[in-house]
Amino acid sequence: MRIVVDLVRCQGYAQCCFLAPQAFKLAGEEALVYHPNPDVAQRQQILRAAAACPVQAIRTDRLEDAELTHEAESA
Ligand code: SF4
Repeated sequence: MRIVVDLVRCQGYAQCCFLAPQAFKLAGEEALVYHPNPDVAQRQQILRAAAACPVQAIRTDRLEDAELTHEAESA
């Protein structure tokens, strides 16, 4: 799966870091670092983290969907 975090919107509340610590980490007080292509085994944790983000900064896409869309566009 794929994650995109809007780092302008992110306020560093760290809800995502508690709920999916393998994918999201705070570096310093406010800088969020994240894994853009986490293992699909972390999917449930990541979806919970995205739902819990107070400013809805986390977008998730399944990589397979993105690839299918790309293939359809280039056909
Ligand atoms: S929960 Fe949202 S606002 Fe908080 S650190 Fe994560 S992405 Fe940023």
